[in-house]
Parts: sequence; structure tokens; C-alpha cells
Amino acid sequence: MDLNTELSAIQGVGEKFSAKLQKLNIRTVRDLLWHFPFRYEDYSRVLPIGELEVGQTATVQGRIHQLNTRRTWKKNLLITEAIIVDDTGGIKAVWFNQPYINNVLREGGQYNFAGKVTGSKREVYLASPSYEPLNKLGRGETKHTAGLIPIYPETRGLTSKGLRYLVKPILKSVGAIEDFIPQEILRENKLPDLSVALRRIHFPLKLEDAEIAKKRFAFEDLFLLQLNNLKLKSQLSQKQAIPLKIEEQELANLIEQLPFKLTSSQKESLGEIISDLQNPHPMNRLLQGDVGSGKTVIAAVAAIVAAKNGHQAVFMAPTEVLAGQHYRTITNIFDDFQEGIALLTANKAEVFYGRNLGAKTSKAKLLKEAADGKIKIIIGTHAVIQKGVSFNRLALAIVDEQHRFGVAQRAMLATGEKKAAPDSDLLPHFLSMSATPIPRTLSLTVFGDLDLSTITELPAGRKEIITKVVDPKNRAKAYDFIREQIQKGRQAFVICPRIEPGAVKEGEILSEAKKKALELKSVKEEFEKLSKKIFPDLRVVMLHGKMKGKEKDQIMKEFQDHKHDILISTSVIEVGVDVPNATIMMIEGSDRFGLAQLYQFRGRVGRGEHQSFCLLFTDSDSANAQKRLNFLVKAKNGFELAEKDLQLRGPGQFLGESQAGLPDVAMDALKDIQLVKATRDAAKKILSDDPEFSAYPLLKKRFQEFQKEIHLE
Ligand code: ADP
Ligand code: MG
Repeated sequence: MDLNTELSAIQGVGEKFSAKLQKLNIRTVRDLLWHFPFRYEDYSRVLPIGELEVGQTATVQGRIHQLNTRRTWKKNLLITEAIIVDDTGGIKAVWFNQPYINNVLREGGQYNFAGKVTGSKREVYLASPSYEPLNKLGRGETKHTAGLIPIYPETRGLTSKGLRYLVKPILKSVGAIEDFIPQEILRENKLPDLSVALRRIHFPLKLEDAEIAKKRFAFEDLFLLQLNNLKLKSQLSQKQAIPLKIEEQELANLIEQLPFKLTSSQKESLGEIISDLQNPHPMNRLLQGDVGSGKTVIAAVAAIVAAKNGHQAVFMAPTEVLAGQHYRTITNIFDDFQEGIALLTANKAEVFYGRNLGAKTSKAKLLKEAADGKIKIIIGTHAVIQKGVSFNRLALAIVDEQHRFGVAQRAMLATGEKKAAPDSDLLPHFLSMSATPIPRTLSLTVFGDLDLSTITELPAGRKEIITKVVDPKNRAKAYDFIREQIQKGRQAFVICPRIEPGAVKEGEILSEAKKKALELKSVKEEFEKLSKKIFPDLRVVMLHGKMKGKEKDQIMKEFQDHKHDILISTSVIEVGVDVPNATIMMIEGSDRFGLAQLYQFRGRVGRGEHQSFCLLFTDSDSANAQKRLNFLVKAKNGFELAEKDLQLRGPGQFLGESQAGLPDVAMDALKDIQLVKATRDAAKKILSDDPEFSAYPLLKKRFQEFQKEIHLE
């Protein structure tokens, strides 16, 4: 037997059992052994029956004095009861609807029973305890009782007990498994080798052992990820790109054209980008900075630099609204730019050639001018990477709100199919932008192939946004306050967690979760309520993701032009939208959103000269939700919140579904900066000593498999 042995080929694993295992994606010995417990039941205390107390989790050793199964009429339950006795006393054990237990256990037999002591003073019993005959087993050989009992992710008809039955003997039969992590790395990081770690993660003697074993597996995943990223990075640095030059004076002139002075960290970031662009190797840089920190103009300057070199730049944004906004920003600032700047979305095609020449155009014409190289800068949604779009000399690709795009979409721009020039090996320089600050552990792992530029400050003069969690009973007051602001000439956003009110089917029995969900405010209901009842005299409009792009653009544009006072929206406005006159951000069901997301919402206001406010509504009285919202009230910057979100909600939301393919232990470990650094150091060292892993054939093989796995995701 080895790790690749199919479980169905093992004696005693029948067809039915295999089918159930497959539901958990367990086919081979490897799958089984890597199906880790997510917790352990502590039965390490073997206690005299006479000393048991209600609430304890314990193992007792005793003889079955009496055993029977009966049916209760009221609930139609089958109840199996056993009286267990030892020298100090007796206790009842009770199982529900498991009549077979009556046949498995034997009156008079000696067993270990492990479970929770339940009941009242009057009647105490062991609830559904695990059991194991005593006479057959020597010490330290128990699987289900007396010690730390592994609890696994289960599926219908396959319990942790069933899994334990299988894991224990198989662990023994596979024997020692050679570790692909080099011994010196294990030693340096004080980690157990693979065989030991496997035994300890399944059947630890103490919890610390399990923890260290888990760390070994987390290390493994992160180490592979680091190797992969560092390799990508070094490969990229060997590829060729078009160097984009610009004289200092010319750059200064460009910056001079901006309607404001750059902040010092904007300057610094722009400097880093410009210096990368001059290299004959592709840039791969992430520009991060809080909402409103002014990333767009930095990217715009980079795009103009590419154009001034006679090359093309493409600028991709996640929504039509944002793409349109970027297009307007660039054409407004660089309004004397005579070369083509185009906007391309599913519904729009526009080209701008210098002042007064902005015009709608046909999509076909736009595509032709892009392919000819006449258009120098194309701004748009993912329409810009669709089939049929080709470039003449693409030198720079920019992706805004990069976390909104999948790996494949980004890769298309960064590495592959859109070549810098047809028939060349040249790659475009790649700049991504994000307002969701990436926690440090993630920038060192998942995003480890990127160089980082960070804008650390907001433009001067921005006032702090006053943020309040509003008690439901103060809702009317909040509405009064909004009215006051609007009468002063300001505008307000109202965010709801969903579009439609929840529907209930006839006769449907509602779960607690569903009841909660039904209470969530919807855009459509709130629109009805606010436009007809609360603010009938104000101009209220709604926006949501089910609307056509054109319609959304229209509404957004009207809101920017102050044709509406209140915009009710789903999270579609999360990213980027700029309306300096809006001073109120009211968020319904705010506990439903991640902190980083709330932070983004809040960043929609406070963009102009007026004092702005963020009002957080929640019907959740859970202490946790309140605590989370209070972080938002207090947080100084997005980084702080991102770190908090990582601790509270895990890394999923930073990675998006496309990258969430990491195993759970590794996901968990992304919170551990020490471990992350250790894996990075180890990966760096081995890549500098032996980049082809010649001395480590096992590692070489495992790494190749890992690359394949990542590629498939
Ligand atoms: P984000 O980083 O969130 O993408 P934007 O690029 O949309 O931010 O910028 C937000 C607003 O701040 C825009 O209206 C932009 O014109 C303005 N802005 C950018 N940089 C500065 C600056 N240095 N001084 C003043 N306003 C600025
Ligand atoms: Mg932006």
C-alpha cells in the first residue's frame, strides 16, 4: 500500500463505503490521510463513575450491567440504554435511533465509554457516548475513547467514527513516507517530518502535538506557494518588455497639467512606476491606496507616458460606471492630447482626439483604430480583453480594482494573449490597483509575485468622515438629518444588502437564517418607502446590478450632475464612484458586509469640501456584529481594517473565489505572519542555492504537481 492506492482496493472497504468516501472527495490513501480533523474531543480523563459531574466530557471504564432498546411512543424514537458500572458506581448511557448498538455491545462486557455527562441532579447519563471494548486493546491503542479523539468533516452516513476506523490501520500500513520538504528546512523550523506529522494530526497525544503537525502542513502549502511566486517573479524578470522613456521635464509638464498638487506618496508611487516602465523587463506592480487617495491620476500619467512613446496602453475597470469615470477624468485633464483615447464597454464606444473631438463611434471603427495603433489609450470594462480586440503596440496594461477580476482575466493582460506587439515575445508592463489594502501576510504569499507601491495618505483638506452606528429607534432622527443635509444642497447614498425583498413560498417553514434574511432591507422596498413616504418631496433614485449597464451609467451620471438627491443602491457602487457633493453614506444591514467593504462604501463620501457622515444601521444585536462595526468607527485606515477582516473573516474575501483554492490549513495560516516569513525565507534560500531542485528530487516532483493544481484552478 502507498499513498496512491485506491481505497476501494483495500480489503474491508466495500462499494457503499467507497461511495460515501467519494462524497468527501476521498479516493486514495493520500486523500484519506490528508482529510484532517478540524477539532479533537478531549476524552483523556478516564474518571471513576462515582466522581462524574454534569457537563464534563470524559471517558469511563466499566462493565455493562444491563442493555436494552425501546421505542418511545410520543416521539417515535428508538432509545438504546445501557447501565455501566465500575467499582465506584453506575451510570446510564443513552443512544437515540441507533438500535444496532444493542447488537454490538454485550451485557457483561468491559468497555471504554466516552461522551458528555448530561442531565440533571436527579438523572445523569452519558449522551451517545463512543465506545470500545476493553479487553482486546492494549494501552494507547484506543481510537474512539480515552485520549484526544479526532473529529472530521463528515457526510451523510459517514461519521468521524467511520473515518477513524479507516485511518488508524491505514496510517500503520503505509509506514514511513518520505518527506519532500528538505530535512534541513524542517529542522530549522522545528517541524516534524511528514510521517510523524500525519500520525500526530490524526491521533495526537496532546493538543500541542496536533498544533505542530498542523503547522507542518500549513508550512508545506505556503512553502510551495512561495516557491511558485518567487519563480514566477524571476521568470518575468527575464522576459522582455518595451522600455518607456520620459524626460524629467516632460514628466514635470504632465504633472503640471493636473488640477491639483500630488501628495508626496502619490509622487513616490508614480516615481516607482515610471522607473519600472523604463526597464526593458515587464513591470508587475500593484498600486494600493485607500479609497480617494488618488490612484487614478497616477495610472493616467503612466498611460500617457506609454502613448507619448508611441505605444498603447489599456486600462480595465470592473464596472461601466468606473470605466466611464476614468475616461472622463483622463480626457478632462489631458484635453489637449491629440492622439486617440477611447472608451469601450459592452454598450459604449467613444473616441477622443483632442479638445472638442470626443465623439461616439462605432465599435467596429474603434476596434480597427486600436488594431492600427491610432488609438493610444483604451479604457473600458472587460470588453477590452474580449475576442476581436487587438492592439498594435500594447506596452502597458492597467487593471483597476484588481481583486474584482479573476486570475485568468488578469493573466490575459499581464502575460499572455495580448502581446505588446504582434509576433513578438514582448510583454506589456502591468499595473494593478486596489483600494482593498492587502494584509501583509497576503502580500507576502498569494500576491508574492507582485511589487508594491502604496499611497499612504489622502489629499490634503479631506475631513474625517463622522461614523456612527445608529440605534434602530433613532431611524426617524437619521432621516431628519438626511433631509437637513439635502436642504443644504448635499446628496446621500443609501446602501442595501440586496435588490428584491425576500420571498416566501406558500407553506414554507422558515429557518432562523431565512427569517433573518427576510428582514434584510432591499433596494426596491427602500426605494418605495423613501420616495413615497419619507422623502416624497425629494428626488430619489435607485441603482442595482440587475439594471442594464446603460441605465446604470445614465443614473450615475445624473447623480453626479446633481439631478437626484438620494441614490439607493446595492453594493454595485462599492468601487470607485466619485461624487464630491455627496456627504451621507447610510448603510442598511451593515453587519452583512465585510469591514473592508464597508470601508469602501464609506469612501464614497468625504470626497469634497463638506463634512461627511457614515450612518451604519443594523438589526443584529449580536455582540460580534456590534464589535465589528465599532472597528469601522474607530479605524484609522484601511490597512488596519484589512488586518482585522483577515482575523475575523479569513482571507477568502481578499482572494476572491478564483484564488480561494488553497487548502484550509493554508488559508488559516495566512493569518500567521511569522510562518509566512519563515516559508518565504526557506523558499528564497532553496531557490538561490538550487533553483532546479537537483538535490531534491521529491521536492521537484511535488512542486510540479503543485503547479499543475494551481493552473487548473
Ligand atoms: P482612488 O484612489 O479611490 O481611485 P481617485 O483616483 O478616484 O481615488 O481620486 C479621488 C478624488 O481625489 C478624485 O476626484 C481626484 O481627482 C482627487 N485627487 C486625486 N489626487 C488628488 C490630490 N493630490 N489632491 C487633490 N485631489 C486629488
Ligand atoms: Mg479608484
